Amino acid sequence: MCGIIGISSNKSVSASIINSLKKLEYRGYDSAGLATLSNGVINEIKSEGRVDSLEQNFDLKNLRGNIGIGHVRWATHGVPNSINAHPHSSHNVSVVHNGIIENSTILKKFLITKGHNFKSQTDTEVIVHLITENLKTLELEEAITKTLKQLHGSFALGIVFKDIPDLIVGARRGSPLAVGYGPNENYLGSDSYALKSMTNKVTYLDDGEFCIVKKDQVLFFNEDGKKINKKY
Ligand code: GLU
Repeated sequence: MCGIIGISSNKSVSASIINSLKKLEYRGYDSAGLATLSNGVINEIKSEGRVDSLEQNFDLKNLRGNIGIGHVRWATHGVPNSINAHPHSSHNVSVVHNGIIENSTILKKFLITKGHNFKSQTDTEVIVHLITENLKTLELEEAITKTLKQLHGSFALGIVFKDIPDLIVGARRGSPLAVGYGPNENYLGSDSYALKSMTNKVTYLDDGEFCIVKKDQVLFFNEDGKKINKKY
């Protein structure tokens, strides 16, 4: 079990992400981390242990960005340390993950033949590089649809993109994922409790669905990448 959070806003998100991560700590406390997007850069910080040690190790007030994702980890693949802490990032994609990718070994071998370099021991990092690979030839929605079909196992995901700086993608199969609606901002979270201080307008992704979360809009898609309607 791990906890994930994502916020797309018109203001800085790092303080709210940290608040939500504290509410999610019951889901995992091996490590904590977050990534925000600002001025075309993915700012990734992570630390072994609890959210408190993340706060102690970094100056979070200076972590800018109106879009961000966060994670508390309960390790399944790879020891609990700061390298295996989420988010995991390539040069243009950053991912937080709750779940287990059962075909990560074979996907990793394939991605290494395509020139991808891996830094961690986690199953999660294959998701990052698979999306990066699929984005070489496909538009966002097609790349996400293809990636999710290639993954075996369970996941709730929050994904940000350096080159698409106004949105977060959320996706789920097996693991829970809530979508929340706030004033000039919208959210993803492993549970509604993580979003409670920000909103009580919440819906849940159903298995196989993914969504695009912008500060003023949320779009939902089925597993074939077709837009669907969903209300809270
Ligand atoms: N499998 C991932 C990891 O080990 C996520 C863990 C989880 O959701 O429990 O980092």
